[in-house]
Amino acid sequence: MTRVYLDHNASAPLKPAVKAAMLQAMEIAGNPSSVHAHGRAARRAVEEARATVAALVGAKPAQVLFTGSGTEANNLALRGFPGRRILVSAIEHDSVLAAEPDALRIPVTRAGAVDLEALDRLLADGAGPALVSLMLANNETGVIQPVAEAARLAHARGALLHCDAVQAAGRLPVELGALGADLLTLSAHKLGGPAGVGALLVAEGLEPEALIRGGGQERRRRAGTENLLGIVGFGAAARAARDELPLAGDLAALRDRLEREALAAAPQARVMGATLPRVANTSCLVLPGLSGETQVMALDLAGVAVSAGSACSSGKVKPSHVLSAMGEDASTASSAIRVSLGWDSDEAAVDRFLEAWIAMARRARAA
Ligand code: PLP
Repeated sequence: MTRVYLDHNASAPLKPAVKAAMLQAMEIAGNPSSVHAHGRAARRAVEEARATVAALVGAKPAQVLFTGSGTEANNLALRGFPGRRILVSAIEHDSVLAAEPDALRIPVTRAGAVDLEALDRLLADGAGPALVSLMLANNETGVIQPVAEAARLAHARGALLHCDAVQAAGRLPVELGALGADLLTLSAHKLGGPAGVGALLVAEGLEPEALIRGGGQERRRRAGTENLLGIVGFGAAARAARDELPLAGDLAALRDRLEREALAAAPQARVMGATLPRVANTSCLVLPGLSGETQVMALDLAGVAVSAGSACSSGKVKPSHVLSAMGEDASTASSAIRVSLGWDSDEAAVDRFLEAWIAMARRARAA
């Protein structure tokens, strides 16, 4: 059975150009901190990647701070400015929510976007400088958040704005300046790069306090010998993402067909977040009465890989905190799957998904 992979938001398959760049980098023996020729070759490779990653989001290379994951970059953004009050949207990824468990939660609307009036009230109510964290595209629904507006509100109240752009980069044009973000998180493996490498983009003049200490790497902001292969892979993925960005919107046609045909076959199903602009690759489908976990297993048996709710790390399935924050009841928030397309998705993959999903929905109805 050929398998169909529709779980790009969990991790995108490595792009061939990334693999080629990483294989080439395996020939480099040096430590980027060494002054000899080997070390200089390694340093060159790191700095080339830094420039490419910066270019993906319209930043300067010196603003890129490489980390060991998107999760680490989010932790650094939220914990690197002690003394600030932290405000996070209620639909952030766990790596933001758990980084500062006491952070104030900004509510979202039923449609799935952060409530800007509530944000402004929360900013006005508290004393002292704040830091707001708002993602650009939600990992479950794909809903694009009003980051530029949130940044304006934050700045007017003397707050910093951090944006987790992990699920937006490569899918939308992301420009640090236009967003007005002071801090921005990226992760290579959502772009067709390797897992285990991310970046925090830091506005000039800001100095996050290092979480990992014991070396002068990354301008003393993140100690540890650089992950040369990962960083080179990240650079190659960023280049490919920038080159292929004009095609990213084309996935919307595939995604829209998937949703249209699914809803036509099973009118009891719902697409979450569909009333707002979304990234083109993501669909959050609720099938009432059937848990997301059961759906994922049934689809896997049919050779189709998708995710349930927000359970991408521990494998444990709990009601989606994103759908709960949008005001859905526990049963709805437990009956969602996320289908996420990407660079290797085609009409045949959507056909396979629909065949398996429609059969599953009919079985559930008959039962
Ligand atoms: N932020 C968002 C929105 C994500 O979807 C993810 C991964 O699912 C992360 C952060 C974490 O990135 P990483 O897997 O590189 O730690």
